[in-house]
Amino acid sequence: MPDLVEESTMVSSLQSSVGTERLVVTELPGPKSQVLQARRKNIVSAGVTNGFTVYIDRAEGAILVDVDGNHILDLGSGIAVTTIGHAVPELIEAVSAQVAAFTHTCFMVTPYESYIKVCEELAALTPGTHAKTSALFNSGAEAVENAVKIARHATGRQAVIVFDHAYHGRTNLTMALTAKNMPYKDGFGPFAPEVYRVPMSYPFRDGLSGAEAAARAIAQIEGQVGAKNVAALLIEPVQGEGGFIVPAEGFLPALSKWTTDNGVVFIADEIQSGFGRTGEWFAVDHEGVVPDIVTTAKGLAGGMPLAGVTGRAEIMNTVHEGGLGGTYGGNPVAAVAALAAIRFMRDRNLVARAREIGTLVLDNLNALARDVTIIGDVRGRGAMIAFELVVPGTTEPNAAAAKAIVKYCNDRGVIALACGTYGNVIRLLPPLVITDEQLADGLGVLGEAVRSVS
Ligand SMILES: *Cc1c(COP(=O)(O)O)cnc(C)c1O
Repeated sequence: MPDLVEESTMVSSLQSSVGTERLVVTELPGPKSQVLQARRKNIVSAGVTNGFTVYIDRAEGAILVDVDGNHILDLGSGIAVTTIGHAVPELIEAVSAQVAAFTHTCFMVTPYESYIKVCEELAALTPGTHAKTSALFNSGAEAVENAVKIARHATGRQAVIVFDHAYHGRTNLTMALTAKNMPYKDGFGPFAPEVYRVPMSYPFRDGLSGAEAAARAIAQIEGQVGAKNVAALLIEPVQGEGGFIVPAEGFLPALSKWTTDNGVVFIADEIQSGFGRTGEWFAVDHEGVVPDIVTTAKGLAGGMPLAGVTGRAEIMNTVHEGGLGGTYGGNPVAAVAALAAIRFMRDRNLVARAREIGTLVLDNLNALARDVTIIGDVRGRGAMIAFELVVPGTTEPNAAAAKAIVKYCNDRGVIALACGTYGNVIRLLPPLVITDEQLADGLGVLGEAVRSVS
């Protein structure tokens, strides 16, 4: 039976446009959101995180409108997904037309052109001019699993090297690849075997150069696993959930060279850092690294679920026919959304906009960090920027401060996300269409939050 909340929501959707300004008209979460939250507690598994429980009715650009009519400023893009912003007309048009034409055939049963076009775009955009092929999936975790499957098949080897602080997903294999126990792994074992974890380059905490950190990781791989047993080295070029850790310069090139020298498949997990987020199409582009395989998802399809595995044709094509796939992988609605999102990013030059956002945010946060004692480090690339909170005068992680800052922002209608192995990092992932005014507004609230917690 439809209840009052749903009906009034439908009516309000038709009434007003979203506009560009943050506007808080009730306590947050508002009364209608509170009703929905109470319903949720009854019926949604307790294992699914409750973040900022304003229930969303509609959205446009960098603004989300909740069921109580609050206009929330989005500095998270649904975790780096809506890079092109919400309600982009070109995407709505492409998706609507595709829904009307057909929603599903299963590409493995009867194919369609948009799947091919997405693979052509992925080949053109990912680093390197070598021959590439792709396979499409539904989620990031699925892309990572398939990248590992392909690397193992191509090399005939089993071991997979991953890093401290890594996040690669929540399926069984990707839980094994992910570093952090709570909340991702605790009680969910046994995990997949032949996964070996080595130290990441984490300049704020290890003080090592890229070359030194790479030598440390390589020594551990060679000593504990043996190069000839390694199928793949899997790394996020800028770590996401682990805390927006940007490795020291030279770390990624040194690892890439070692993989090439040893017949190991270098897999860059660009699911969070890719698709323009860091001010290049891919984060590895900042150091000219050319991975053997790149995994993509999140920002790829403007909010529709789509993921890709793109790699050297000679690696990707070793797999026997039928060895890769899935019912929904490369769904036609998601595929046309990706094509529309990529076109929009090119037309608006959003990759360059990510660099501009990066400069604005870094300048702002660096100034803030000089004024307060709880910010230990400000880091990131392009529109993937974070700061790490510490106990003043130390490098000891300060998760309580991160929590308080997120709450302060949420209370004022700004979405800010925490992350990090120690839960002490605040990350900014604004949609790249965010205006300078919106960004200044969000940074203003964030600055007040940091000062109030200091
Ligand atoms: C989010 C993420 C994943 C998992 O993607 P899902 O779509 O949530 O399965 C994998 N790797 C990285 C780097 C991510 O940020």
